Amino acid sequence: MRGLLIGRFQPFHLGHIYVIKEIAKEVDEIIIGIGSAQKSHSLENPFTAGERLMMISRSLYENGIHKNYYIIPINDIDNNSLWVSHVKSLTPPFDKVYSGNPLVKRLFKEAGKEVATPPLFNRREYSGTEIRRRMLEGEPWEELVPKAVVKVIEEVRGVERLRDLAKKDVL
Ligand code: ATP
Ligand code: MG
Repeated sequence: MRGLLIGRFQPFHLGHIYVIKEIAKEVDEIIIGIGSAQKSHSLENPFTAGERLMMISRSLYENGIHKNYYIIPINDIDNNSLWVSHVKSLTPPFDKVYSGNPLVKRLFKEAGKEVATPPLFNRREYSGTEIRRRMLEGEPWEELVPKAVVKVIEEVRGVERLRDLAKKDVL
């Protein structure tokens, strides 16, 4: 049995680790789809697909999650009715989809896939939006992500990047 988790992972955080551990109890193999893979260097999507891939694979290793997993970048296509086929064209076959996103759930359900909504874990803090906000405001964010993610973000100077992106153009 193979399960699919799709997210943007901007960045990958402890809520994602928790949800992957939950999914790992149910399935033999986990497919992690990196959504909006083509996006980077924006306030909503600061990190590249490659950077996010590095965050995920190092974090799973660091957390001793040695289950077979596949990490697959998935570019957006501007066509919701074709999106499930697009995802299926890029991933190994899967039996079940895990997502909290209503559109993702709707599209997979209409395609006849089993869909589950994993329970949220400390959502107030374990949230990409909250972590990006803290990075911009200069508040501590490191405790909300795996150690490996702190290292990747330092390596690519991610906080500096985010702050530069928030600056206004010269007049
Ligand atoms: P953003 O605020 O940028 O949307 P996010 O924290 O929602 O970031 P996503 O990459 O959108 O991160 O999350 C992908 C999926 O991971 C969600 O649809 C949800 O199923 C799961 N997830 C996210 N945060 C948590 C959490 N704190 N606990 C459990 N599952 C989570
Ligand atoms: Mg989200």
